[in-house]
Amino acid sequence: MTELPSRQHALETLAASSADKPFDVLVVGGGITGAGIALDASARGLSVGLVERGDFASGTSSKSSKLIHGGLRYLEQREFGLMREACTERDLLRRLAPHLVEPIPMALPVSDRKRRVQFGVGLWAYDALASFKNMRLHRHISGPETEELVPALPPGKIRGGFLFYDAITDDVRLVMENLIASVERGAVVCNYAEVCDLIGGKDICSASVSDTLTGDTIDVYARRVVVAAGVWADKLEQQARVSAEPRLRPSKGIHLLFRKDALPITETAAFVPDVARRRMLFVLPWLDAVLVGTTDTTYEGSLDHPTVDEEDRNYVLDSLNGVFDLGLTPEDIAGAYAGLRPLIQGKAGSTADLSRKHSVYEIAQGIIGITGGKMTTYRRMAIDATDRIAAELGNHERSKTKWIRLGASEPDAIKPEIAARAQALGLSPEIARNLVRCYGDRARDVLDIAEHEDARDPVAPGYIPISAEAIYVARHEMAAHLSDFLARRARLAITDRNAGIGEGSRAVEMMASVHGWSRGERNRQQDAHQAEVERERGLAVAPPAAPKRGWRRAADAVLRRERTG
Ligand code: FAD
Repeated sequence: MTELPSRQHALETLAASSADKPFDVLVVGGGITGAGIALDASARGLSVGLVERGDFASGTSSKSSKLIHGGLRYLEQREFGLMREACTERDLLRRLAPHLVEPIPMALPVSDRKRRVQFGVGLWAYDALASFKNMRLHRHISGPETEELVPALPPGKIRGGFLFYDAITDDVRLVMENLIASVERGAVVCNYAEVCDLIGGKDICSASVSDTLTGDTIDVYARRVVVAAGVWADKLEQQARVSAEPRLRPSKGIHLLFRKDALPITETAAFVPDVARRRMLFVLPWLDAVLVGTTDTTYEGSLDHPTVDEEDRNYVLDSLNGVFDLGLTPEDIAGAYAGLRPLIQGKAGSTADLSRKHSVYEIAQGIIGITGGKMTTYRRMAIDATDRIAAELGNHERSKTKWIRLGASEPDAIKPEIAARAQALGLSPEIARNLVRCYGDRARDVLDIAEHEDARDPVAPGYIPISAEAIYVARHEMAAHLSDFLARRARLAITDRNAGIGEGSRAVEMMASVHGWSRGERNRQQDAHQAEVERERGLAVAPPAAPKRGWRRAADAVLRRERTG
């Protein structure tokens, strides 16, 4: 099996559990932590159910900086253990999912002599923590070479810097690959399924789960429950144990995306100091945009709707303009998003100084929680949580995830195969590369749809994702809303100023062909997507243009075809 079964099937299987026929493990939360646990536990032979209240990866796991990294910044905090673990995981993930976790050279421009010595020592330590096994060791770069790698830098101002290596990914696809691999090993996963009540017990636990698309409720039984609910973990803990004290201190981080012509960048990322020189900003080439982040501020607002506010936007713009001399303005911003780090409370005054370590803890009898950590170390977090429950359940298998390939069984073979097939269909090399990056082996299935269902065009003129992808994710990845495709599976909500619904977009038409949406429903889907994007972007980006006639024309054509039979 290489895809997710239907939501309906997943819900029925979850509902069929009982106190006599429980799952071994119920995972609450379909972000990277929950997905990693579902894979680890199912690979050890445990029966696993996973429920996610929104779309998969709709929480923090779609809002990261997309870096699989050792965390150079943590050197300052002397978090050597965490860094070593992260470097080892970075190198392992590059082997397990090379189509999705790719090396990225990072240039670090430094003119100041004292800082050059500090960074030189720091980068030596960074290589040492990776046992000198990183794809390449760091090296010093001259002023002209720095300018060549980071063309946005003003000429003649930078004396030199360093070049080192980390890895970059698409956080949502990493979650999807873990979920799909867990389903291949028997796990039952379901999105839009919210745990509303949680009851612990020595032998059996139960969760009341609401299907948020229909309002129906089912009870799911399991011998153990793992709450992997990110910043919502405290809320879940209070469901199971009313007197629970908050453990988390969420911190907000925002990113802005720029058009490549506004912020010129090569395939090398830059790591630049901000105005106040307290933090570093990443400037990364990502998909067809330039991703810049991030901030780290204490957050006390709604956990469900963090927003990029004007202060966030100005902070990033001022920092970039301080370094690059490009005169960037809000008009150059193509997209923006905000996410919340699930940090464990600590003594540090600023959230930036709080540890990124994770914690596994008991919530109630039979229920444990896991939170904190980083996307990079999700596999290690999953091992810690699964070791604990597996031992309690008498399962003494060790974690197997070190050997489980994610998505592409033969990564070297799939790239030329998809490139050749895409070319034969008249698709560009960028589209072929994107298909392999997103779907690995399953890119074959997407191309089958493109070929046989008249869906080979880009979702809208000039976009990289193609129409077949909208059909594929609606059919095989439980994408239930237009946003599930545009915001998460295809990322157009953040890379495109029009959020994927610009002139001529066929996205809603393609998804409607799978879900049978009426004209009214198509409009509702489009409006809901637009509202979600605008709410998150806040004032950072001018609102996407109102629904386009092109889209309406396409939708009308489908309706006409439907009416005429
Ligand atoms: P989440 O992804 O939030 O998943 C929890 C899920 O639980 C959510 O999807 C939520 O909907 C679900 N849920 C909540 N309540 C319920 C319920 N009642 N029933 C069912 N489901 C429920 N890490 C890196 O390694 N590299 C980076 O570059 C990086 N950059 C970052 C940048 C920013 C700005 C931020 C905020 C974080 C970054 N991180 C990075 C950290 C990383 O993104 C997080 O540690 C990770 O995504 C957390 O995943 P999670 O699964 O624990 O939480």
